Amino acid sequence: MTERRRDPTTGEWRMFASHRQDRTFLPTEEQCPLCPTRPGRPPTEIPLPAFDVVVFENRFPSLVAKPPDPDVVGSELYQVAPSYGANEVVVYSDDHHLELADMEVGKLARIVEVWADRYAALADRSDVDYVLIFENRGEAMGVTLHHPHGQIYAYPEVPARPLLELATATAHLEQGGTCVFCDVVARERADGVRVVAQNRSFLAFVPFAARYPYEVHVTAHRHAPSLLDLSDPERADLAALLKVVLSGFDRMFGFRLPYVMAMHQAPTADHRWLPVSHLHLEFLPPHRTATKLKYLAGSELGGGAYLNDTRPEATAAALRAAAAATPGKV
Ligand SMILES: [Zn+2]
Ligand SMILES: [Zn+2]
Ligand SMILES: [Zn+2]
Repeated sequence: MTERRRDPTTGEWRMFASHRQDRTFLPTEEQCPLCPTRPGRPPTEIPLPAFDVVVFENRFPSLVAKPPDPDVVGSELYQVAPSYGANEVVVYSDDHHLELADMEVGKLARIVEVWADRYAALADRSDVDYVLIFENRGEAMGVTLHHPHGQIYAYPEVPARPLLELATATAHLEQGGTCVFCDVVARERADGVRVVAQNRSFLAFVPFAARYPYEVHVTAHRHAPSLLDLSDPERADLAALLKVVLSGFDRMFGFRLPYVMAMHQAPTADHRWLPVSHLHLEFLPPHRTATKLKYLAGSELGGGAYLNDTRPEATAAALRAAAAATPGKV
């Protein structure tokens, strides 16, 4: 069964893909499906002896270009739709242990190029309205393969979280005539207390109303709706700042900090969103201390109201100190 169903009480579309239960779960390094295919060994997902960055369709997709008909018959109340879209896997390198944080900035810049290329290619498809580039890192985030990789989901409509931001930004624009993200960047640069790191083109900061203690947003200084609006030097600046932020995360507690990274960019079918679409990457690490995780519980899951036990200004200062020690930082 692969289909989408709409929750009539919230208007949100949910994806169903029951075949995903069979997917590979934490294989050993020997059996890693994201490593190159070595001579004399069984083929992996990547039939090459070495590679730089590779993107391929997820073998257990929940969204596909040619979806089957839904199993159930929909009605006006219970709408059902085929699972149009795409699930792609981005394997950052052929090295089983090389994390984004440890890469050369030049290599990170090539990954930024690949993200931009895939955003452009998926945006061209008529069945796609939103491209979400993301990474789940660490077993705490449900990672099933250790080889460093990210994912790209292309959805047939704008999913709930970016839609909420776009609607809020639209109200802000109508009220005051400015982009709320542009206003936030200006305010954070002026205040400075929540800044983790910055360079010519991007700002990394703990949001004023962060959901997680070590939440960091990496936002373009100027109003660029997507990676496609960045110049080459701006893309290189994004890569350089990612290096600083990710190295800071790993230095914070002395271990690889798990996180979810999600990149918010312009919806791809409806260009009316462009004035309120402002490229940013959100990093959501679940740790609240070295040994304690923040669990989403009653208030968060039941009420959608996040409770944060830390001061964003204090966690930003700690992350700023950790990030400042990055070798070769800009
Ligand atoms: Zn591997
Ligand atoms: Zn803006
Ligand atoms: Zn966002």
